[in-house]
Amino acid sequence: MRQFELESVEKVDQAVASQRDQRRDAFVAGGTTLLDLVKLDVMTPERMVDVTHLPLKRIEKLDDGRLKVGALVTNNELAHHELVKRDYAVLSEALLAGASTGLRNLATTAGNVMQRTRCPYYRDPAMPCNRREPGSGCAALDGINRNHAVLGTSNRCIATHPSDMCVGMVAVGATIVVEGPQGSREIPFEDYHLLPGDTPEKEHDLKDGELITHVILDAPRAGGQHYLKLRDRASYEFALASCAAIVELDGDSVASARLALGGVATKPWRAEAAEKALIGQPATRENFERAAEVALADAVAYSHNGYKITLGKQAIVRALRDATARTTATAA
Ligand SMILES: Cc1cc2nc3c(=O)[nH]c(=O)nc-3n(C[C@H](O)[C@H](O)[C@H](O)COP(=O)(O)OP(=O)(O)OC[C@H]3O[C@@H](n4cnc5c(N)ncnc54)[C@H](O)[C@@H]3O)c2cc1C
Repeated sequence: MRQFELESVEKVDQAVASQRDQRRDAFVAGGTTLLDLVKLDVMTPERMVDVTHLPLKRIEKLDDGRLKVGALVTNNELAHHELVKRDYAVLSEALLAGASTGLRNLATTAGNVMQRTRCPYYRDPAMPCNRREPGSGCAALDGINRNHAVLGTSNRCIATHPSDMCVGMVAVGATIVVEGPQGSREIPFEDYHLLPGDTPEKEHDLKDGELITHVILDAPRAGGQHYLKLRDRASYEFALASCAAIVELDGDSVASARLALGGVATKPWRAEAAEKALIGQPATRENFERAAEVALADAVAYSHNGYKITLGKQAIVRALRDATARTTATAA
């Protein structure tokens, strides 16, 4: 492990002023992603700025009905917050499906948004990886790619985005608020993580010097909610396929739907075409299966991960079924 400087800041403007170049300077919050990657020599910051003393630990209901979540709110605090359990059950379930209790007590909201892929080739500096070292190649394309993505891939990178929380946030709808040298800026959650394309090293829309200060959740959506995570073992494991579903019924038909997928894509994935396919249709298994076909229509399988196309569809059908079961239908 390389040596680095460690600095602690108390104010947001100090944190912003402390950052010059994301490759050399890094914020550290819970440290559960960053310190692992530093030990593996995958991230090599020369300076780390401890942001854990910043006043970004509150969860606050806004007058317009939205929920403002401080960057340093831990994953467990967010999952167990009364309003999150009541109004954003799908997010609470997604958070609790992630990591372990101990890790969730350290892991922060911003750190979770910024967590890196678990692709073993990314995490091994001896292997080529365009995401870690642009232009070096992608060992996963012809390597062991059982855990890799089938949606949003490119011929430069097929790494899966690992977060559960982010999938829940895409389903409920959210905005990321950042503070930087030019002031503050808001980014729709769905636009924050970038597709790999030709530049897989650009993982998100955070500029040099910018700090995530909050995530603001949209006002609660009507309907039943459910997060389903399918994985190799029942706990302490990343998703092979997951689905966050919110379904509102009008009589027996779907009035509105939100669907987001994890474990199958290179970023937290909104299945918007599948949502549209559901609107106005009776909430039946056949229609859920049709929506699942739409969601995975553009999926591309590699040598070992073809099963994820089937698994992703099954996750959608079951998440829709269970979200619908929690719906209180309005009279037709
Ligand atoms: C064994 C293990 C199992 C896990 N399982 C799961 C799982 O099943 N599901 C899941 O979703 N996650 C899982 N995780 C990932 C875990 O959720 C993340 O490690 C955690 O959320 C990161 O938060 P942190 O506060 O520790 O971030 P840190 O490690 O402190 O930072 C992570 C990144 O975020 C940046 N950062 C931190 N704060 C800010 C800020 N305010 N503004 C801008 N950048 C910032 C850092 O510079 C760094 O690049 C697992 C992790 C481990 C180690």
